Amino acid sequence: MTGGPTTRFAPAPTGRLHLGHLANAIYVWGLARRSSGRVLLRIEDHDRQRCRPEYETALLDDLDRLGLAADEPSTNELRAGSSSYRQSDNVAIYEAAIERLAAATDVYACDCSRATFAEWRVRNDRAWTGPGCPGGCLARGLERRPGLVLRASLGDRDEGWDDLLLGARSGPVSPDGDLPVRDRNGNWTYAFCVVVDDMRHGVDLVVRGEDLVDATPAQIRLARWLGRATPPRFAHHPLIRRPDGSKLSKAEGATAIGDRLDAGQTREALFGGAAAGVGLLDDPQPITLDEALDLVG
Ligand SMILES: [Zn+2]
Repeated sequence: MTGGPTTRFAPAPTGRLHLGHLANAIYVWGLARRSSGRVLLRIEDHDRQRCRPEYETALLDDLDRLGLAADEPSTNELRAGSSSYRQSDNVAIYEAAIERLAAATDVYACDCSRATFAEWRVRNDRAWTGPGCPGGCLARGLERRPGLVLRASLGDRDEGWDDLLLGARSGPVSPDGDLPVRDRNGNWTYAFCVVVDDMRHGVDLVVRGEDLVDATPAQIRLARWLGRATPPRFAHHPLIRRPDGSKLSKAEGATAIGDRLDAGQTREALFGGAAAGVGLLDDPQPITLDEALDLVG
């Protein structure tokens, strides 16, 4: 245990690791090393329809091949079976957290569909904005049952934070209505799981892609409702883009890391490619993991 921050690398086993994950890993391990922090590895398999055990197996193997080792747990500990760091092994924790949340604020079933939002837009000539939901489901007191989304009332106004990479940021906590905490298939949502997990694992530095900036205010507020007095710090890094700013195609960047290694690409070429993809390097020349982490530190 060090005096530095605790951060995490938290892939979802919904597919193979690709260069985007590697760029995230460079930031996670790089920022941790810069401040003598530690890295946790968490398997975010909250979505039971999309996650597959064979993807988890592949991602653990890929991390080993890349030499990316978390301080806790080891890939072998995850391979050995049930873990505090695998969401699907901790269902009771999310059940308990939702009851804690329901004691603090409204948690309610919502039967609004895309059509409900679309009809509201037509009637009002603008998109629905929160808090609440367009169907007024909180007041209707629907029974919590499979097939219905569960939402949490987080309240209104904004939450702000001082982003390690982006500076001062803020945004509304309910831009599209009250936060869904469980989806209609019965899965706890990404937002709910990461907030609960970051609290229970003592994560105080969240390092992730800029595509999650708009999700941050709701997560800060949710953590508050769950009793977290001090939110984690956030660092939102660029996503992998082409030099002209457009998204990488599958052929260019989204090819599985394991397949690239199998095809003879070196780890160093992959680190260089990922670092260049997020602008840490001008050219994608091969670099070692140490050199890649130094680019962030
Ligand atoms: Zn609703």
